[in-house]
Amino acid sequence: MNEKPREEENRLRTVALAIAGRLRAAGYEVFFVGGCVRDLLLGTDPEDIDIVTSATPEDVQALFARTVPLGARFGVVMVVEEGLPFEVATYRVEGGYVDGRRPSRVSYSDAREDVLRRDFTVNGLLMEPETGRITDHVGGIADLHNRVIRTIGEPAARFAEDHLRMLRAVRFAAVLDFSIDPTTFDAIRRGADAIHRISGERVREELTKMLVSRGARRGMELLADSGLLARLLPDVGALAEVSQPPRFHPEGDVWTHVLKMLELLPVAENGRVDARLAWAVVLHDIGKAVTRTEDERGVHFYGHVREGMRLAEGILRRLRFSNQDTDAVLDLIRYHMHFMSVGDMRPGTLKRFLRLPDFPLHLELHRLDCLGSHGMLDSYEFCREKMAELTREDLHPARLIDGEDLIRFGFAPGPLFREILTAVEDAQLGGEIEGVDQARQFVLERFGDRLTDRSE
Ligand code: ATP
Ligand code: MG
Repeated sequence: MNEKPREEENRLRTVALAIAGRLRAAGYEVFFVGGCVRDLLLGTDPEDIDIVTSATPEDVQALFARTVPLGARFGVVMVVEEGLPFEVATYRVEGGYVDGRRPSRVSYSDAREDVLRRDFTVNGLLMEPETGRITDHVGGIADLHNRVIRTIGEPAARFAEDHLRMLRAVRFAAVLDFSIDPTTFDAIRRGADAIHRISGERVREELTKMLVSRGARRGMELLADSGLLARLLPDVGALAEVSQPPRFHPEGDVWTHVLKMLELLPVAENGRVDARLAWAVVLHDIGKAVTRTEDERGVHFYGHVREGMRLAEGILRRLRFSNQDTDAVLDLIRYHMHFMSVGDMRPGTLKRFLRLPDFPLHLELHRLDCLGSHGMLDSYEFCREKMAELTREDLHPARLIDGEDLIRFGFAPGPLFREILTAVEDAQLGGEIEGVDQARQFVLERFGDRLTDRSE
């Protein structure tokens, strides 16, 4: 890995140590806890460091200059030191999960009780900040060693308290490349139905974390095996039934195709995958289950793009994606079949396609689509060559005429303007016209019959 994250990581730890030191000097107990301890023991860089302490939120606020109460009711205060935020939580127990989603009350307790309320043994380890010494009340060290996700306590009871934990188990197994303890997995299978009670946002966050990891494919398989997929994304689950023509899809059914693509998702230097691309992989062919037909000429999926966009939009809205992300994923689906015809496109049409704002992402989806099936990259290479050949100016030439020119020519403002200006740009992109005079001539020849009566 490059140096910068390493430095960042050291700084994170140094500042966290300073916070711990200040709390300790004031007479309180302090530990690093949860995901950061797990990650440090696995030798990966934690993204944040969570701190638990015997100090109350008021004590914490009194000790540090910059604090933000994160629902002081839940005993968590954000401490900001050197511009870095840390969650400092008072030891607590949660009680009375009335709805399988959120605790209805919390009360302060000790370090042991604090970890017993946490979800999985590997997320329940305490680390003494200065020495790195581990306190393990939950059997987390053994499970970390054996790479197992196991609930703290009886799985069915813990999943009934908070149904999201079922999905988190799958997410951690995928991201960390761990197995799920059979008893824990069995409890997910039995309890999977309850996942529908969890809000779209929380589901989206877990699924996205899973999909942008190297374990995306395995995560999807675990989701399917656990029964969660059929509840969360039934249209994706249905793809396993959808067989395809072997000439274009030697890999098999649509589900297999999607899994192969997930496995090939490109991982950036920060270890992450573009979330929009990952979601587009999952959703790009969901229209196939409902559009499949077969006749003497073979298997067809007429209209699968339009149908897929309709289904995908429903899913993205249900999972509360931002409008921006929803549009980006829908566009990826919308254009994914355009690549098949890039070689036959008129020059203007091709240039419009190549200058789509997220074209590199579209191209990447297409590359995965090919590699996850027939493996032929002709259209991909064709686009790459064109991109290398064409300048910014070729793709975005300066406008030859505008609305004011059209008024001067004698056209009345209205929807016609857009039509004319698009036609002019098409002709320009296609190399049919050059310069203002040719543009003017083109407009008068093509649209002259729609000039408004000049006598008016
Ligand atoms: P990462 O941040 O890498 O996704 P993490 O382990 O830090 O992993 P978070 O969701 O940030 O996961 O939660 C921090 C810690 O809080 C967890 O390690 C776990 O101890 C506890 N925790 C989080 N969500 C739950 C939950 N739904 N039920 C019980 N404990 C939880
Ligand atoms: Mg975390």
